[in-house]
Amino acid sequence: MPGKKFEVQAINDDILAKFSLKNRYSFLNNNLMAILSTKEFNFLKEVQRFCMRFEKKNEITHGPDEDIYDWVPAFGEKGYITRQHTFDMCDVHYDNWGLAADFLRNLAIDMFDPQFAMGGGATVLAVNPIYEHHDDVPIRLEALKDLVTGKAPGAILITEPERGSDAVHQLTTCDEQPDGSFLINGQKIFNTNAPKSKWLVTYATAEQNNGNTMAQFLVNSEWEGLLVERVNIPWVPKLYLGKETFANVRVPKDYVLGGVGKGRGHMFEGLVPERISIAIMGLSECWGALAHAIIYANNRKQFDQMILRFQGVGFLLADLWSRTTNVTLGLLKFCESFDEKYTKFQGNIPKNISQAMVASASQFKYHASKLAKKVCYECANNMGGAGLCDNTLMHDYLNISRIQEIVGGSRQIQQYIMSMSLRQLYKMSVP
Ligand SMILES: Cc1cc2nc3c(=O)[nH]c(=O)nc-3n(C[C@H](O)[C@H](O)[C@H](O)COP(=O)(O)OP(=O)(O)OC[C@H]3O[C@@H](n4cnc5c(N)ncnc54)[C@H](O)[C@@H]3O)c2cc1C
Repeated sequence: MPGKKFEVQAINDDILAKFSLKNRYSFLNNNLMAILSTKEFNFLKEVQRFCMRFEKKNEITHGPDEDIYDWVPAFGEKGYITRQHTFDMCDVHYDNWGLAADFLRNLAIDMFDPQFAMGGGATVLAVNPIYEHHDDVPIRLEALKDLVTGKAPGAILITEPERGSDAVHQLTTCDEQPDGSFLINGQKIFNTNAPKSKWLVTYATAEQNNGNTMAQFLVNSEWEGLLVERVNIPWVPKLYLGKETFANVRVPKDYVLGGVGKGRGHMFEGLVPERISIAIMGLSECWGALAHAIIYANNRKQFDQMILRFQGVGFLLADLWSRTTNVTLGLLKFCESFDEKYTKFQGNIPKNISQAMVASASQFKYHASKLAKKVCYECANNMGGAGLCDNTLMHDYLNISRIQEIVGGSRQIQQYIMSMSLRQLYKMSVP
């Protein structure tokens, strides 16, 4: 375990050494070995090998002084920003791609550093709409390549100071000009990576509060009239979130990903992969926290016994472990069948199937983020003081896991979507 991370060492040398990234990966791999296909398992190990070497070579301690954005180019060069797609249209080719591959990529990277993994996830939210709507326009392909190869992080700008959950009734306006460009005015907030990003994907509306007039734009953060300020989120102190003020920002025609009327559809089409990615992130956090707590419980002694042998500790870990394993299995199955259908229908999944996937994505996002909050807290709690001090990544897990229920649509919004799906299902099932 790197030694400079903490102010004062609270955990003894032996146990600290056992928390190495290698051991935590090994714990994860022994859990997944029987479940993953050979191809999947090899890919997981490939990303893990890279993370271990990267950590060692760069003497990364995960301490407060490190800038996680410095690591983006190296991961981008290896193709580890996203594996949801292959990007042949901008000369970036992957053999291993799809939601399942991206699950494994994220598992490895999250165990390396959870805040870094979350920042990468936010870049992917900018990648996906450009991937869907590049229309072979050179500047869009250039932005896509920058993002997937780690030249620049990216951000998605949906949330506004006065419009959070109610994302379709936006106040940021776009006025079309005679030459096909648009002028954007308004404010966005809580946009992960924005202060560090070159490329932003934003939404605005021709008429305030009218979802039918939404449009979607690719924006260069250096354009005139755009002010990007950092919003501090203490639970993820290494991530840079933005508050953006658009004052007559001119967006040239080539940067319009979806004109007036197309924005809402574009926003909803990205929601299934986004919510699945948040579920993946939540589960990766569960595995990271469990790996720490289980290693600790097998080594920490009290009353002259390893604490795993006390029912209060061992049975709790068994409960958290079984829940995490089960949801992992379910999510992996979902990802694999999503990939199968995506390939079969060449990206155009039929409406009835994609509608069912909207409900599943909400179920997984809801369940996995709730589980992450529980598992990460209980694992930290089970480690006593060792789970709360700054000697390990446990405090990162504790804090970041509490955020997953808010991002990508809050817990209550997922419940609302699922309850509406129950109405649909009822109508489909009962004459
Ligand atoms: C760390 C972090 C990263 C983020 N990253 C991004 C990003 O990259 N891009 C981006 O655009 N946004 C991002 N967000 C914003 C996030 O998506 C919003 O915070 C979220 O959608 C909730 O919006 P809000 O904060 O305005 O809360 P509100 O919508 O004001 O909600 C407040 C409370 O009311 C509840 N509520 C609201 N409406 C209903 C309803 N109809 N039924 C029941 N309950 C309801 C909510 O569940 C919540 O508990 C991020 C936020 C955080 C904290």
